[in-house]
Amino acid sequence: MTKTLHHRACHLCEAICGLTLETTQGEDASLAITSIKGDPLDTFSRGHICPKAVALQDIQNDPDRLHQPMLRVGSEWQPIPWEDAFVLVAERLAAIQTRHGQNAVAVYQGNPSVHNYGLMTHSNYFLGQLKTRNRFSATSVDQLPHHLTSHLMYGHGLLLPIPDIDHTDFMLILGGNPLASNGSIMTVPDVEKRLKAIQARGGKVVVVDPRRSETAAMADQHLFVRPGGDAALLFGLLNTLFAENLTRDS
Ligand code: SF4
Repeated sequence: MTKTLHHRACHLCEAICGLTLETTQGEDASLAITSIKGDPLDTFSRGHICPKAVALQDIQNDPDRLHQPMLRVGSEWQPIPWEDAFVLVAERLAAIQTRHGQNAVAVYQGNPSVHNYGLMTHSNYFLGQLKTRNRFSATSVDQLPHHLTSHLMYGHGLLLPIPDIDHTDFMLILGGNPLASNGSIMTVPDVEKRLKAIQARGGKVVVVDPRRSETAAMADQHLFVRPGGDAALLFGLLNTLFAENLTRDS
């Protein structure tokens, strides 16, 4: 049996933790994943791993995993070649859009699709050709305002400011729950340890949220806001900054 170590990144969520996978090749040339661990040498995640990544081998080895396209014929599913599937999908999509308009086709992309090189680099070509306005994703649910403000302020939707969580002494979190999301857009594996490190060096974590979230529960201060009152809160903050001369030019 031959054991090999592979260093990879977990693609399941925003945190992109570094993983060390061990595979074992049997004498019959079969390959099995025999261990999945957090990679302590990954400078970002520093060995952190969560149960989802440990279970990656269950996805890999799931007997129900699809390895080729399936076509439903009556109540049965039949495997078909990729070429046939491409032709079928192209014909059906074109027919639906010809009959009902471009927007009759909707797309939903799950979160891992932005952690996959193939989808990230090529899906836009396909989606652009579809010319539908009905595109939904984790982005359209929770982060398009980030992209819009970055576009308006810095000229590109992906010029995203990242909080320096490892060096800040005051972390103000507005409506975020990084303990659940691992920091949407800010990418913070093992965020609980990083937030506790702020507190350990004498800093403060303040959460503004109408809900007592997991992050709020560990914050130094949790400020409830009435749902829908976010804009008033932000205007109040801006007003105080200018009224008390707390702004600076650069
Ligand atoms: S937090 Fe878990 S799911 Fe997310 S990247 Fe890390 S190991 Fe993967």
